[in-house]
Amino acid sequence: MIRERVAEYSRFFSLLIDIRKLRLDKHALLYDTYQHTIKAFDEKTAIETAQDEVSFFDADVRSKANGILKQHGFSLEDLINWRHTLLTNGSFNILGDSKKRRAYVARLDDNLLNDTEDVYKLVNIMSWFIDVLGGDGVTVKQLLLREMTAHCVICGKGYEPKRRTQVTCANPACKKAQQLKHKKEMRRIGKYVG
Ligand SMILES: [Zn+2]
Repeated sequence: MIRERVAEYSRFFSLLIDIRKLRLDKHALLYDTYQHTIKAFDEKTAIETAQDEVSFFDADVRSKANGILKQHGFSLEDLINWRHTLLTNGSFNILGDSKKRRAYVARLDDNLLNDTEDVYKLVNIMSWFIDVLGGDGVTVKQLLLREMTAHCVICGKGYEPKRRTQVTCANPACKKAQQLKHKKEMRRIGKYVG
């Protein structure tokens, strides 16, 4: 069991190394082109040339990203699940619906949040990669805020809780469905105690 889990993690981390490498390649290209061009020309030309180089890089980055994904045997959905796993390992434990915690995170600067913890750095890189693949490339902050919202146990939609014990959204159909679930549960328990 543990051996399986370790194998899963090592497979994911070897994928992550290639994702990071792709991202670093982009930054290195940007930096090198700028450095070389500024020696021969002015800063304006250097910035423009570097941006041109990066747009060539971006043009085929998706096929490179797809190649990495295939090579490691992961799907886009797997990536999104792993991003969620990493996110839950950060200090801002995503479970729960603390209003105060949400208000706090909402005020944080994106770059600051991304740099505070290793897991958030990794989540940020993964979001970039997911975005390259045409997926949901949201920021760490957006992910945290999204997860901190309470979700209806019936329909799964996010809602603003009015009571501490509230488990469904305001939709009457969801409330009714939840009551029915309670009734059924009571009947089930009743069979044993009654
Ligand atoms: Zn609902």
